Amino acid sequence: MDKPLVIVGAGQAAAQVITTLRAEGYGQPIILFGEEPWLPYQRPPLSKAYLGGEMEADRLALKAPGFYMTNGVDVHVGARVSRILPGEKAVELACGVRTHYGALLLATGTRARDLTLPGAELAGVHTIRTLEDVGLFRAECVPGMRLVIIGGGYIGLEVGAKARGMGLDVTVLEGQERLLARVACPIVSGFVSNLHLSHGVHIRTGVGVSQLLGAAGRVTGVELTNGTLLPADVVLSAVGAVPNVELAQEAGLAIENGVKVDAATRTSMPEIYAVGDVASFPSGLYGRRVRLESVQNAIDQAKAAAHAINGQDVVYDPVPWFWSDQYDVKLQIAGLLDGHDRTETEGDMEGGHFSVRYFKDQRLLAVCSINDPRSHMLARRALASGQER
Ligand code: FAD
Repeated sequence: MDKPLVIVGAGQAAAQVITTLRAEGYGQPIILFGEEPWLPYQRPPLSKAYLGGEMEADRLALKAPGFYMTNGVDVHVGARVSRILPGEKAVELACGVRTHYGALLLATGTRARDLTLPGAELAGVHTIRTLEDVGLFRAECVPGMRLVIIGGGYIGLEVGAKARGMGLDVTVLEGQERLLARVACPIVSGFVSNLHLSHGVHIRTGVGVSQLLGAAGRVTGVELTNGTLLPADVVLSAVGAVPNVELAQEAGLAIENGVKVDAATRTSMPEIYAVGDVASFPSGLYGRRVRLESVQNAIDQAKAAAHAINGQDVVYDPVPWFWSDQYDVKLQIAGLLDGHDRTETEGDMEGGHFSVRYFKDQRLLAVCSINDPRSHMLARRALASGQER
């Protein structure tokens, strides 16, 4: 008897699960529900080449449209799953239609964190998470306009770089004392800060925002907690992402900084799996539970889920890696650097080609590389083999 695999969330991880399962001969029906109106697409270009107009929308697609039909996947886009009924082994759409599953995979990703400030609802205040978001934001990116970006993390900085290229006047506000404070050491933060300053971006670190000001329903400025008023025509909120766990939570699945899964991507309920940005998993490499927001994790964890769904034994314990493109600089990070007690820098900092290695108790934790892909690849290998110094 058929036992369909139902996938909730049509993003990076979903596309990979389907690809791996079908490549490995999985014969059960697959049903995919995605709330966005698009087939699975890549998000990284949304703050990079696609935003800058160097990449067309059709190149964002992860698979050609015919792939799903050829592989016997019943795809429903614009279809938000509103409830899981684990007792009945079914999911329910908002219209009440139920679909029964043999196995269920949650790949619901993250959403942009809300800006909880007075004025956040004004026109001209944007986030970038989806293709639709970029369309709305880009329509307002007119040369000469003043863009204030709240948040000096990857997405805020990537958008800042592209917006400079589009002729906007850009200010980045960061609450911490330096850019990329959560994910890079002061050396890398300093390099990235200088990079943006050299392109004319205004940077203010260690500042809080008290409210967004507006006139006739449209944003006109950003007020800082120290009373400074920054005029703004457009505001981008880039203050991080939160995992879409509500479906899982309401169904009674265990949640721990995301949907809690084991090393085989299984949740706390039988036949329910979770992968990608929404899932937190036990990392043997780092000795704690982690939740990653990266393409690497979405792809590799999806492959692990496909194997588990197909009845194989799997242990997902990856070396995390991530990249960011800003101007002509490629920043690559292998590993997780929190908790490091020592750094070593190698390469040509002046020339903008170098890597910073992070250690804890003599153990290599992570490597941040600036225009240094060779060191990045070596770092991934060293971390995978558990190299110590
Ligand atoms: P997603 O790709 O986000 O897909 C989840 C999907 O589930 C969404 O379409 C969502 O609408 C849908 N969904 C949610 N709830 C429901 C529901 N109830 N019913 C139906 N559908 C639902 N990573 C990198 O490694 N490098 C980068 O340079 C990089 N740049 C990025 C730039 C931007 C602007 C963004 C937004 C992300 C970037 N990332 C980058 C992160 C990367 O894109 C994500 O880690 C990856 O997309 C996660 O895949 P996923 O399948 O878990 O989630």
